[in-house]
Amino acid sequence: MPSCNTCDKFFNPATLDEEGVCPDCGRQVTIGEMAHDFDNETVKVPWHFWVGVAAVIGYLGWRLIQGVGLLFW
Ligand SMILES: [Zn+2]
Repeated sequence: MPSCNTCDKFFNPATLDEEGVCPDCGRQVTIGEMAHDFDNETVKVPWHFWVGVAAVIGYLGWRLIQGVGLLFW
């Protein structure tokens, strides 16, 4: 639930404007857990995460091949 740390108040997300500014003091409010339901895009794993995973797997696989090669050669 959105809350203003300055005023120590909680707000209904529907009562806030798009910028999430506190109507009392004009400061940016702290967006709580409720906001994640409205912003699913940030919950998804970005495509570059999988690029990193693939790079790590490839690197570890290469090191494994090198390690096996050292044992037998
Ligand atoms: Zn406030």
